[in-house]
Amino acid sequence: MKALVNTAPYVLEIQDMPIPEAGPNDLLIRTKACAICGSDVKGYSGKTGRRQPPIVMGHEAAGVVEAVGAHVVGFSVGDRVCFDSTVYCNRCQYCLSGHINMCENRQVVGVSEGTYRRHGAMAEYVTVPYWIAVIMPDHLTFEQAALIETVSIGVHAANRTPLKLNDTVVIMGAGGVGLVALQAIRLKGAGKVIITDLSPSRLQMAAELGADVTVNAKTDDLLGALRAETGPEGSDATMEAVGIQPTIDTALEITRKAGVLTLIGNVQPRVEMGLQSIVSREITIYGVCASNGEFADCVELVAAGRINVDPFISERIPLEDGQAVFDKLYKGVEGNIRSVFVFD
Ligand SMILES: [Zn+2]
Ligand SMILES: [Zn+2]
Repeated sequence: MKALVNTAPYVLEIQDMPIPEAGPNDLLIRTKACAICGSDVKGYSGKTGRRQPPIVMGHEAAGVVEAVGAHVVGFSVGDRVCFDSTVYCNRCQYCLSGHINMCENRQVVGVSEGTYRRHGAMAEYVTVPYWIAVIMPDHLTFEQAALIETVSIGVHAANRTPLKLNDTVVIMGAGGVGLVALQAIRLKGAGKVIITDLSPSRLQMAAELGADVTVNAKTDDLLGALRAETGPEGSDATMEAVGIQPTIDTALEITRKAGVLTLIGNVQPRVEMGLQSIVSREITIYGVCASNGEFADCVELVAAGRINVDPFISERIPLEDGQAVFDKLYKGVEGNIRSVFVFD
């Protein structure tokens, strides 16, 4: 099969690889669409340590079942499927207590970080355990379905964020996850939603997807601009979907006393946080890691049109363009949410 292999930092090669064999619990899936995640773009540089070469990346994908392992239940050859990125074991204490994203034996599709290597879907075929896959409704396209992994993270973030009807929410970052968090928090009953980003086109998209107010983070006084919208108290909840020092600072400061701060982004592994501001104002902080069992719901939310992913598809590309597209995305492309590999 044809595969796009990250063979060295910044290098992607089209290689001919053997079609992976489906284990007893696996589906062998013929890939139809696979989106490039921001983590792939950072990962191919070798700087995150989570794409150690050689690795076939790709954890946001959909396709058609080509073969099923002996123990697979509920799937047949020919089913159109999409799948979650977290491969969990179904046996450890976290899995058994309903925290599958905290699985002791957790692997991620398309990731190699030293202890394991699991090839992903930037290839003509990929295998995943059947319990992370979902059969797609007929009217969903493969490209839409490939974006549901991203949806699951924004939905999990919204599920983690306690909210009362009409609460004011600030979202930092209008990338894929931020734009899903916006739609999910709206479904959960948020009142005024204010979103920030550096990109005018992403903010435009946020407005079209239901944000009440968009604020360009380049503005001289971002905190002042946000406070003008939340009122002097600040937001009831803030969702941070960037993960760098300045956005973390602003996110904490705009959150009102006894408010909630949900942290999704983690571009920088370490940032400083205002201890006194958190302690003396009784801020509740939630971390968000991938999703925890929401994937099937997300398929329904997208299929029903309650969460719209269509604007996220910035371009459709063949696998052969992988190197050029990654190089371009690494430099930064204004307004790009997802470049999606499409297969015949
Ligand atoms: Zn991703
Ligand atoms: Zn487990």
